[in-house]
Amino acid sequence: MRLFVKICLKGEKHYRHRNEMTHHVDTGYMKHECIVAGKPTLNPATLSAVPLFIFNIPRFQPNKDPTHIFSHHTYTSRILDVPAYATGNEIYLNTKYIASYTGDVKREITGVLYHEATHIWQWNGNGNGQPNIGNLTEGIADYVRLKGDLAPSHWQQPGEGYKWDQGYDVTARFLDYCNSLREGFVAELNGKMRNDYNDNFFVELLGKSVDQLWTDYKTMYGK
Ligand SMILES: [Zn+2]
Repeated sequence: MRLFVKICLKGEKHYRHRNEMTHHVDTGYMKHECIVAGKPTLNPATLSAVPLFIFNIPRFQPNKDPTHIFSHHTYTSRILDVPAYATGNEIYLNTKYIASYTGDVKREITGVLYHEATHIWQWNGNGNGQPNIGNLTEGIADYVRLKGDLAPSHWQQPGEGYKWDQGYDVTARFLDYCNSLREGFVAELNGKMRNDYNDNFFVELLGKSVDQLWTDYKTMYGK
């Protein structure tokens, strides 16, 4: 079974798609429950909380108008075996991943949604700048998930990891440390990544090179 769920931030009419079970929103926020493989994964409060959480991050500058449609689909694929991915304004959730997940599936999928929704609204340097920008954007997406109190137990702990731009959880924990030095740092960093990215942004915002910050961070945790 494929599910298609369309979510919007403003009023939205019915949506229908061939061979897909459709849940839709009548007006305003989402009014549906998404069930995949017998597991309830998302509820209206969860779905509406995702964009609300992101847009409530102080000084967060989205790359597009918050009223842009945010939709998600579920998919099964033997080729693309990842829990989820985002493209354009849409998030694709892997039904196989959801069905085989053994822990708290609602919490896990909500966390995945926080991560993927961040990709929809964050800046990515427009493809310009240093090559570590991809890992940094993954770190920012996991940082939002972390701030949503949705970090999974398998994540690296604070102070762990071998380099700051390793991506995902390691970078997210490091960004959390940087944000503790300057409230709103991650939101401001995202805002600066509109056209390109340079490690020097850390110096501009925090007065220290990112390598120095990483050393300070590791020292603080004795790692
Ligand atoms: Zn990602």
